Formats: sequence, C-alpha cells, structure tokens
Amino acid sequence: MGNNDVTNTVGENANENENLNLFTSTQIVIHDALKKLGFPKNAFELLKEPIRMLKVRIPVRMDDGSIKVFTGYRAQHNDSVGPTIGGIRFHPKVTEDEVKALAMWMSLKCGIADLPFGGGKGGILCNPRTLSFGELERLSRGYVRAISQIVGPTKDIPAPDMYTNSQIMAWMMDEYSRLRSFDSHGFITGKPIGLGGSEGREEAGALGAAICIEEAAKIRGLSIKGARVIIQGFGNAGSYIAKFMQQSGAIVVGISDVYGALYDPDGLNINYLLQRRDSFGTVTSLFDGAISNEELLEKECDILVPAATSNQITAKNAHSIRAKIIVEAANGPTTIEATKLLSERGILLVPDVLAGAGGVTVSYFEWVQNKQGYYWDEKEVRDKLRKKIVYAFQQINDISNNSNVNLRVAAYMVGVRKMVEASEFRGWI
Ligand code: NAD
Repeated sequence: MGNNDVTNTVGENANENENLNLFTSTQIVIHDALKKLGFPKNAFELLKEPIRMLKVRIPVRMDDGSIKVFTGYRAQHNDSVGPTIGGIRFHPKVTEDEVKALAMWMSLKCGIADLPFGGGKGGILCNPRTLSFGELERLSRGYVRAISQIVGPTKDIPAPDMYTNSQIMAWMMDEYSRLRSFDSHGFITGKPIGLGGSEGREEAGALGAAICIEEAAKIRGLSIKGARVIIQGFGNAGSYIAKFMQQSGAIVVGISDVYGALYDPDGLNINYLLQRRDSFGTVTSLFDGAISNEELLEKECDILVPAATSNQITAKNAHSIRAKIIVEAANGPTTIEATKLLSERGILLVPDVLAGAGGVTVSYFEWVQNKQGYYWDEKEVRDKLRKKIVYAFQQINDISNNSNVNLRVAAYMVGVRKMVEASEFRGWI
C-alpha cells in the first residue's frame, strides 16, 4: 500500500453539470477519500461497485385474486470485514443505482461506527400506501424467498428503511425461519421487541443524528438550549429528531412532509404534531398556511436537518441556506456541488454517513443480543450508541482539521479504511 496512484477517472466530469446520481456521486467521494489516504488504484476498482447485486421478480397474489409481479433488489457492497448489513426500502421510485449507492453508504457507516460488517441494501418497487395489510405481508414474504440464497445471519442481515417497519421485519424473519426450518432471530434487525428486537432500535437513527447535532453545536460554540432547528421530513427519522431536540431545549421552528412545510419563528407545538402525524409522516395537510419545502429550507435557523429524501440541497439553493449547521439525517440530501458551496460559506455540514450511522449501530447491537440470547435495557443501548457516535464524530472532525478536507471526505476516509485493509489482508487488492 502507500502509492498514491488513484487517477481521477470518475471525478473529472463531475463539475460540468451538477451530478444528481447518488451512485456516481458516492463513487466520486470514495475516490477522493482513497486518494487522500494514498490507497492504490485497485482499491477503488474493488469499492466502486457492490460485489453482488441481485435483481428479483416477486409474484404476489393481490386481494382481488389477480397476480402482480413486483421488482426487487438486494445489493451487497463489500464483505471483507464481515457479513453485510442494511435496510430494505419499499418505494415506487426505487432504482438499481439507488440501492447500489445505499449499500455503499452502509459500508461507510459500518466503517465509521467500527462495526464488524460491510454494507448491504435492498429495495422493492411498490407503493405501500396502495397495498392492503395482506398484500404487504405476501410481498414481504415473497421478497425473502426470492433473496434467501444470498442472505442470512452470517451472510447478509436486512433491516428496516423507508416505508418498512417492525411488522414487515417480523414477517420476513418468520419466512426465513420457515425456509431454514429453525428460528433465526439474527437474520434480520428492527424486529418487534417481543420477537428479539432491541430496545432503542426504532429511534436509533434519529438519536445518532441528535448526538451529531450536539457535537456539531459544540464545535460552533452554539448552545442547543434555545437553538432554532428546522427539520425537513416528519417520518421516523424527522419526528424522533424533533422530539429529541425539544427535549434538549431547542426550539423547532420548522418541519415538513412531502406535501409542504410548517414554519413558526416562535416554535411549533411538536407534541401536538407528533400526535397528529399519520404512519407515513404526513401532517401539513391538517393545517392552513403551509409553505413549500423549498421555502422552508431557506428560512433562517441555527440548525437545519434534512431528514426526508435525497438531492434537496443543490447548487441552486445552497447559496440561500441560512443555517449555521446542517446535519444530514437523510441519505444523500446534499449534492457534491452544494457541499462545496456550503463549505466555502463556512456552514458546518455533518454528512449522512456519520449522522445516519446510529441505525446500523443499534442493528449491530440487536444482532449481538440475538446471538447471545441476553438482552440489554434501553439505557445500556443508548449509552453504547452515544459512545460510538461521539468517538466517530471526534475522529472525523480531527481528520477534517488535520487533512484540510470537509467532514464528508473525512468521514469517507474513516469509512473506507478498515474495508480496504481487510480486503488487502484477504488478497483482494
Ligand atoms: P419515512 O418514510 O418514515 O418519512 C419520510 C418523511 O419525509 C415523511 O414525512 C415524508 O412525507 C417526507 N418526505 C418524503 N419526500 C419528501 C420531499 N420530497 N420533501 C419533503 N418531505 C418529504 O422515512 P424515514 O425512515 O424517516 O427516513 C427518511 C430519510 O432518513 C431517508 O433518507 C432514510 O434513508 C433516512 N433514515 C435516516 C435515519 C436516521 O435517523 N438518521 C434512520 C432511518 C432512515
């Protein structure tokens, strides 16, 4: 190792037009991180794509008796460190590139939190809003049958992601256990507590992001008490972050969902909004005077938390953002161009691979508890999570300062390191 031989094959064209492809923009940052670390060119060759990508077609009997065939994916990015791990997304716009990028991010998150895993991710093209409970169950079970050969507690461990929840994880675990003829709790994480789930798993992603907000505020000398926070997205991640921020004494002045945004400079009534949100994280349709998501992102605040979807902060609106700190709870909300612009403007941006590492960390804890058959209480889970996230944050911040790179590149440098070293030991590089 050690020769600085990574040519800029992917990065060359990125600045001509803004790159909104999550897969290629992830490749660019991985490339930059490897180059900064001085890893050889073939490290990028290995890491630029998942090692395995399965596309499946899932026939499902619908309630009206017809059969509908759904398309699904499972990507495994790199299993040099250990089995792969990562969520399953149900969404009408899932693409192969998106699943590949998400698997790569999972690898980075595992490296950042120092977990003995590589990254995986799955997705099914479907609109869960239009499926009945029974159809959702048959689709979930069908997906597990379709991918069963490449997953398992020592191979690849799925988890929840957008529009999947603990009930779906329970059906999937049951289907896998039937296929293998034994109870296999460690096959999947994010299960209900009564079925081997971990305390603190549901809110783990949001808690990881909230811990990052605290650490970022310390760097900027900002007190969380009284800080004005805007959160884009009011689903699982966004609503828990709002709750944690309020508990810490921050003032949540804006939230949004897919239909619009609510903003009040004096602070929103978060408890009321939490009671009124539906299971899809929708709340703004209940109120008059909602503004658009675009407008919300440009409102003045101390801390902006994109917790909805990708490509929300781009070269178009980066100059209008009026936050001091941005913490990316969602995956890929800021483009590469926008990251540069924000960095030039002195806005501190905590990247998704760090701010979103809490979910997979507690998935790891769930897997460990399943293996040992001994379960921890919520405090133990939270304390262990905090320790990992704070350590990762400080390590990444130090690298950012010492290597003169932004926090995203620094996070990727930490994220790839163990994976490259393990791949080298195995003779893959
Ligand atoms: P979710 O489905 O529970 O909620 C998504 C929320 O975003 C909903 O309120 C929805 O209305 C809103 N939304 C969707 N499209 C939008 C748009 N274009 N503009 C504004 N709002 C929009 O999803 P989730 O589990 O909360 O995940 C949200 C994001 O966070 C995803 O990128 C996911 O991968 C990531 N995630 C983060 C964590 C974390 O806590 N860090 C944990 C799991 C998932």
